[in-house]
Amino acid sequence: MEKKITIAIDGYSSTGKSTIAKQLATALGYVYVDTGAMYRAVTLFALRNGSIADTDEDVDNIVSLLSEIRLKFVPNSSLGYCEMYLNDENVEAEIRTLHVSQFVSKVAAIEAVRVKLVELQQAMGREKGIVMDGRDIGTVVFPDAELKIFMTASPEKRAYRRYKELLDRGDKVTYEEVLKNVEHRDYIDTNREFSPLRKAEDAIAFDNSDMGLKEQFERILSYSQRVIARA
Ligand code: C5P
Repeated sequence: MEKKITIAIDGYSSTGKSTIAKQLATALGYVYVDTGAMYRAVTLFALRNGSIADTDEDVDNIVSLLSEIRLKFVPNSSLGYCEMYLNDENVEAEIRTLHVSQFVSKVAAIEAVRVKLVELQQAMGREKGIVMDGRDIGTVVFPDAELKIFMTASPEKRAYRRYKELLDRGDKVTYEEVLKNVEHRDYIDTNREFSPLRKAEDAIAFDNSDMGLKEQFERILSYSQRVIARA
């Protein structure tokens, strides 16, 4: 029988990590885990409890709230993928708003938040056969992953894709505010003290600024098949 591997997909915001990760997981019969959704759900919980991670007091408050947070990915068969549940509530739509995006990188920079979520992520990947996307999957969560991809694209291309997604969802946003958010998250994600976003040395850099989804999928699927055949 074919051996299962771990596939780590990291990169900047809105580089299409989740799109390719979902496609790969479906094609290979693997589990897909969107770790950004986990950081977003913790952020939503903090916002609902009045903490925006701006002061030391906020940070202490968020850390003390962590034990009250239960996260679960629940499969939605009509959508064909899992949705994020926070304490048994489906928060999939709410965690994707620009409002949550504006605070998530600050919450994700808190060490105790990362420790808790990385532990959950490592447990989910114990059996392999997983495609996980995020910012620290190839560097911290699964440093031994057999295949690591690091996605990049220009900030303008990424902001435009995100802007279209938010408009399609009915959010009233401008391109300029989405671009500002993408650049702001890049800055915090790459400069934070704990597990900053960086390319793992053994990751394949993949710039999709000028690439269609079909070509991207075919290329990355072919990398995966080669690695699986050698595993
Ligand atoms: O992937 P997504 O854009 O939904 O992630 C939201 C935010 O969560 C990122 O901007 C980043 O600050 C944080 N994140 C992280 N580590 C991960 C996944 C996401 O710090 N593994």
